[in-house]
Amino acid sequence: MTTATAKGLDIEAIRRDFPILAGKARGKPLVYLDNAATTQKPTAVIEAVRDFYRMSNANVHRGVHDLSERATLAYEGARKTAARFLNAPFESEIIFTRGATEAINLVANSFGAMRVGAGDEILVTHMEHHSNIVPWQMLAERVGASVVAAPMNDRGELLLPEFNALLGPRTKLVSVVHVSNALGTVNPIREIIAAAHERDIPVVVDGAQAVHHLPVDVKALGADFYAFSGHKVYGPTGIGVLYGRREHLDAMPPWQGGGDMIEKVSFRGTTYAPAPAKFEAGTPNIAGAIGLAAALDYLTNLDLERVLAHETDLLAYGTASLKTIPGLRLIGTAKEKTSVLSFVMDGIHPHDIATVMDMQGVAVRAGHHCAQPVMDFFGVPATTRASLAVYNTREEIDVLIEALHEVRRLLG
Ligand code: PMP
Repeated sequence: MTTATAKGLDIEAIRRDFPILAGKARGKPLVYLDNAATTQKPTAVIEAVRDFYRMSNANVHRGVHDLSERATLAYEGARKTAARFLNAPFESEIIFTRGATEAINLVANSFGAMRVGAGDEILVTHMEHHSNIVPWQMLAERVGASVVAAPMNDRGELLLPEFNALLGPRTKLVSVVHVSNALGTVNPIREIIAAAHERDIPVVVDGAQAVHHLPVDVKALGADFYAFSGHKVYGPTGIGVLYGRREHLDAMPPWQGGGDMIEKVSFRGTTYAPAPAKFEAGTPNIAGAIGLAAALDYLTNLDLERVLAHETDLLAYGTASLKTIPGLRLIGTAKEKTSVLSFVMDGIHPHDIATVMDMQGVAVRAGHHCAQPVMDFFGVPATTRASLAVYNTREEIDVLIEALHEVRRLLG
């Protein structure tokens, strides 16, 4: 494949950083276009995890011995890296979680339970991933509140005036996706936060599909909470980040109890450690945090502005190429969009499309993408989704298109 450069990014060199990309699938060169589900890992991440287990493995925070000190330094260093990556004002505003899902559940169970009561509303959008719907429904059910979804148009864009009109006296919390995993829509987060803050309503942002595609600055955005998963940003699975504004974290009760989150325990009662420890009960995913820090450093070194330029070029190329396939309908055509090509084809089931693509070595996903309300809105049971990452090339899009012609030959 030829080298595609986007303002200085050497994509061929980047591809060499990801060992799995040199491999095959079904005997064909792998074309990995399932990046919204999870991204592949660069050697820097694989080695950071391996080196931790080979050279520094110990539990954190509790030991005085050399290895424990090293593990603690690396783990807390990862917190610094994550804070820098999001431009969080304080390291203590970074809580390590299992992923975006756990981060949102943490906010719902702690902050949400503290703020939301009977008759109140939690405002989300129609394009949320299930992990930004279900935790709020569970909370709403428990306290007698309701979850309200702001509408979108048939391009998959949030209707901002309607969203603003839904911000009412009963709205106690807003939780919105930054980038939709099913549509690729980039939401106007800054405007959303400003509108909610005018009414003193705190905002949670689900950044699971955003932080590896766009530069994110939680301070500039003014987000109250911002959640993302390590495995979508070229890091390991089982680790994620919740950024929370310090004044919120200080006021919030813990949601899980155990070791490492306490100040003093006795049978008369327990006092809690300050954040972030208050929210990290038990032994954390130490290797995961270290691997995540390596991924964030890797991405920062590439420069997210250049990553965005490359992925914008690929998205435009992919969109134009898909439009040449007869009977194909793109689902999600927002003006502000990144990295997701979701589509349906006349008379061919998405799972059959993905199966034929797989025979060509092309990895895409078919299904509802954990966004069933989006599927309902567009009146489809499922879509086929090709999703892009920094290591993808125009040549890979060409393989995708060729595979779609094969789909039509076989099933059309
Ligand atoms: N939100 C969005 C927009 C997502 O795409 C995903 C993952 N598909 C999640 C939340 C949940 O992330 P995780 O499963 O890593 O917790």
